[in-house]
Amino acid sequence: MYFEPKYECMNREDLEHLKLERLQAALTRISKNVPYYRKKFDELGIDPYDFDSLEDLSKLPVTARSDLATHAPYGLFAVPLREVVRLHGNYGLMGRSIVVGYTINDIHRWSRLSARILMAGGVGKDDVIQVAYNYGLSTSGFGMHYGAEEIGATVVPASSGNTSRQISIIQDYNVTTLVCIPSYALYLADRLDELGVNINALSLRTGLFGEEAWSEETRQEIQDRLKITAADTYALSEVMGPGVAGECLERNGMHINEDHFLPEVIDPHTLQPVEPGQPGELVITTLTKEALPLIRFRTGDLTRLIYDPCPCGRTFVRMQRITGRCDDMLTIQGVNVFPEQISLIISNIQGKTPRYQIVLERQGRLDKATVLVEADVLVPDKIKEQQRFIENIKQRLAMELGVFFQVRLVELGSMAFDGDRLIPVVDKRTF
Ligand code: ZN
Repeated sequence: MYFEPKYECMNREDLEHLKLERLQAALTRISKNVPYYRKKFDELGIDPYDFDSLEDLSKLPVTARSDLATHAPYGLFAVPLREVVRLHGNYGLMGRSIVVGYTINDIHRWSRLSARILMAGGVGKDDVIQVAYNYGLSTSGFGMHYGAEEIGATVVPASSGNTSRQISIIQDYNVTTLVCIPSYALYLADRLDELGVNINALSLRTGLFGEEAWSEETRQEIQDRLKITAADTYALSEVMGPGVAGECLERNGMHINEDHFLPEVIDPHTLQPVEPGQPGELVITTLTKEALPLIRFRTGDLTRLIYDPCPCGRTFVRMQRITGRCDDMLTIQGVNVFPEQISLIISNIQGKTPRYQIVLERQGRLDKATVLVEADVLVPDKIKEQQRFIENIKQRLAMELGVFFQVRLVELGSMAFDGDRLIPVVDKRTF
């Protein structure tokens, strides 16, 4: 089942032409409307009107997440704000905050691209899709929601959390498709077991999962326990959200919507392209985005591209499941967080930065995040003051990062060290 076979199954030669044509149009538009990129082109001696080969892609400047943050909120937009109908982003601190804009055309395109991903994952118009991603500033909920409506399926915008309600909805609305982070799917499976629900009596048959790293073993477990087929998806909020890439039913790599997103894999240290098929950092150039076009955006995600033809008939290149990150970004409870954001929140409360350590574990199926803070930042016998400090940090972390942390005051000696160096993040999770 294809949503747009004309593109998804286009022969490679035509696709290469289309990509070049769209890239040329994008570069001239960007050069005209985004002073930041125009300056970069000038510095590198690039004439966007004279760009005639995809081979020259690596001559274009890369865009880092920090470039987006530096120019936030609207410095990299290629259209005036009055043409922007939607803003998403991750609201953070430390110049890490990123704002992503969409024109109405961007929103329509987003819907169609998400529809492709859902259909590739085995979803059709007769499905009832429960979107258990967060709706809000993050893109996941809305992206999948639009895709589901676009294919004419029935969408239930359950949003994240409230597991009892999620389970009631699955049962009462005859939900056939579950869309959420994979660890939550397993958590739901546990709860269904505890409640003694007969899984075979449910209507569930497919699931699309993404937003956090997961293994083939996790996929097997989700499939076995929920009695569904489970497909991997790749969303990138800076680039658009869901709709960038997703697995077909072959479940052997995610097809990238290549007619809209030009992928490359580079060595994160030298920034040079790796040999085809070799692992490295995924870099994406948007070909059609109007409000916030990006040239060679460094995703920080490690993967490799699979060029072999796929038996499903789609000709788009596939990316292997994400194997890790090449920067310090953490994904906790499906949310992207940088350690410095946590540091700043803690120091803003206390007026100085106490020594602290972030500990990530799996509690059952879900991420458990703890911040250990050195105890002697406060007079030890003032219990009330300590309690207030802990509550304050918890609330601020939850409010500003969207992640629930446990906070504990401990002796410095009980934190993990590497020689003399306090290790900032201890990640004990296995995926
Ligand atoms: Zn395929």
